[in-house]
Amino acid sequence: MSVQTDISTLNELFEKSHPMDVVKWAYAEYGDGLVMSSSFGADSAALLHMATQVMPEIKVVMVDTGYLFPETWQFMEELRRRLSLNVWVYRTRRDPIAYLREAGETNPQFRQDILACCAVNKNEPFDRAMAELNPKAWLRGIRRRQSDSRAQRQFVEFSPRYKCDAISPLLNWGGREIHQYLKAHDLPYHPLRDKGYLSIGCNPLSCTRAITAGEDERSGRWSESNKVECGINLNSLDSAQL
Ligand code: SF4
Repeated sequence: MSVQTDISTLNELFEKSHPMDVVKWAYAEYGDGLVMSSSFGADSAALLHMATQVMPEIKVVMVDTGYLFPETWQFMEELRRRLSLNVWVYRTRRDPIAYLREAGETNPQFRQDILACCAVNKNEPFDRAMAELNPKAWLRGIRRRQSDSRAQRQFVEFSPRYKCDAISPLLNWGGREIHQYLKAHDLPYHPLRDKGYLSIGCNPLSCTRAITAGEDERSGRWSESNKVECGINLNSLDSAQL
């Protein structure tokens, strides 16, 4: 999909569509050229379930930064068994302990240079995954209400960075719709969600913390910095967007 007018028409149509219809359209459009990414975060089970209902063998790209919560691995294994997921884990090339030492990061629970750490341990593995898998399109779970930085995203966007289309079926869903979907299909949340973690990335406190009532879903991410995205959902790594 590269003709701008077609994308605009689709995006208008998808504003009123159920996410499952967007997933079905994506499979009809891209076939085996469709992959998806998952962080196995708080409510990742919803899109994983939709995608595997339509395309059971879809490649699910997960980035292992070396700093994930043990509960994330537990959740991934639970969903892998439950949904027979075809998970492709792309790991950082760096040894997690050696990286901290070499980067001068003296406290494992706090990153002084978040941009550098995300570039090496998060973005490089995802860039490598997309270069190796060379998909025609990529399903991702971002939602507009998660943060201001995601409020303007569209259901179908061409990503020059990955040279493929980025499809975001859940854009218009909020926590209530996600909850109803998970409940209807007897799907679990990430085990840390009950402890106030509504957006879950890496385990240093500088990168993920529980949130309090009234805060945005993603306000627990890099909460002591201006950073709002790890970067993999951006079309470029312009630091102004991070
Ligand atoms: S989220 Fe934190 S620990 Fe994870 S890659 Fe980014 S800076 Fe490093």
